[in-house]
Amino acid sequence: MSKNVDALIIGAGVIGACTAYELSKLGYKTLSVDKLPQAGYGSTSSSCAIIRTYYSTTDSCALAYEGWHYWRNWSDYIGNAVNPSELIEYHNTGCLVAKTELNGMLEKACSVMDEIACPYEHVSAGEMADFLPGVDTRRFFPAKLIDDPDFGEPTGGEINGAVFFPCGGYVNDPMLSAQNVQAAAEQQGAKFRFNAEVSKILRENNRVAGVELSDGTVIKAPVVINVAGPHSSVINRLAGVSDNMLMSTRALRHEVAHVDAPASLNSAKRMITSDSDVQVYTRPSSGNGMLIGSEDPECDEREWVDDPDHFNLEFSAQWKTLVMRLAQRLPELGIPDTAKGVVALYDVSEDWMPIYDKSDLPGFFMACGTSGNQYKNAPVAGKIMATLVQAEDVGQNHDTDPVQFKLNNANYTLSLDCYSRNRKINAESSFSVIG
Ligand SMILES: Cc1cc2nc3c(=O)[nH]c(=O)nc-3n(C[C@H](O)[C@H](O)[C@H](O)COP(=O)(O)OP(=O)(O)OC[C@H]3O[C@@H](n4cnc5c(N)ncnc54)[C@H](O)[C@@H]3O)c2cc1C
Repeated sequence: MSKNVDALIIGAGVIGACTAYELSKLGYKTLSVDKLPQAGYGSTSSSCAIIRTYYSTTDSCALAYEGWHYWRNWSDYIGNAVNPSELIEYHNTGCLVAKTELNGMLEKACSVMDEIACPYEHVSAGEMADFLPGVDTRRFFPAKLIDDPDFGEPTGGEINGAVFFPCGGYVNDPMLSAQNVQAAAEQQGAKFRFNAEVSKILRENNRVAGVELSDGTVIKAPVVINVAGPHSSVINRLAGVSDNMLMSTRALRHEVAHVDAPASLNSAKRMITSDSDVQVYTRPSSGNGMLIGSEDPECDEREWVDDPDHFNLEFSAQWKTLVMRLAQRLPELGIPDTAKGVVALYDVSEDWMPIYDKSDLPGFFMACGTSGNQYKNAPVAGKIMATLVQAEDVGQNHDTDPVQFKLNNANYTLSLDCYSRNRKINAESSFSVIG
């Protein structure tokens, strides 16, 4: 089969860019194509870019702890490809996570942290004000819609305190992070083409043979990787691989509110919070701002989107609901008249865990189903994808002989079938953005 490149990557978001970087470091001649004008312009640009280590399963916690090390040492990861003044800023604020019935009082998360040697500290309800001045520690669970007459009414007792995870924080500019990685990948020889939409996946002799762009350009490649974010299901359908997968991916609309932090936090050291009692998470932003996102309570209707190129970009009642849910915990929070923030799409799998895998079409791979929670893992996901491509090249059948992936910092080995397209639904998942 003739080829123009060794590997063609569809999508130059943060995970696509990291995949290109890792493959080029291994010597693959890569071309990344993206229909948008710049790297990170898709769902990556809307990300809250929160880096945290607590998840619902051991594999996910270990992966996230590994990922944290890359953000912490971003300039080492990027090398000298980017002028230091043009690198992203990573703010290691730590994360305060409420202990609730929903997360099993974080007992499992803490025992996993012990297993992977990731630090944490218990915080009693009385001590929470040291972390979050002005906090109201009463229970409000379950989350309700704002037209529910019981909205905002405490439901009895106090939350059981929290856990503070010092290894966590946020990236100031997620789009820039993808562009930093693009520059590092280009230094290794990777090529990027923007405003280029993949419209066909080509096959030859029962394997992938490349792609055709919407302008008719044909690019031959023995390896094609679907890193198309919320468009991943569209690309899998083009490749004809969806029907042979137990997992699927779907685009889910989400709103994130940007508001001014309450005055009670003015002099506080501000951090990430995750509160499954009022079912919102928060992140500091520039100045005195904060972002508020949803932890997907059962009462909220899920807005699945069939066509990721056309969805409602206007704020809805979800925006105000998020702000008012947080105001239960932080009563000094003001409710602005004008909605600010982002409306964007997650790419969600059935169990809210990613799919990092090959497919039934030899040479066609996918890094998708990132379910609103894989920004933090992008550098490791890039390495995972490069390892899977390399394994297939040397004849290893990942479906029957799963690739083992050693995490260098977390001292843990992932059996990569945990991210298989054909896994059973992981019953330990939170089935929410927490993963
Ligand atoms: C609102 C929101 C908040 C989030 N917050 C967090 C968080 O705090 N922490 C966290 O860890 N994760 C978070 N995430 C998830 C995280 O941002 C994503 O998992 C990650 O950015 C996905 O990166 P990606 O490279 O896979 O996809 P994307 O950034 O979506 O990139 C996919 C690219 O593929 C391109 N593409 C699609 N179809 C085609 C085609 N046919 N031809 C060519 N190009 C194509 C698109 O143009 C796009 O640029 C959040 C996500 C959202 C939406």
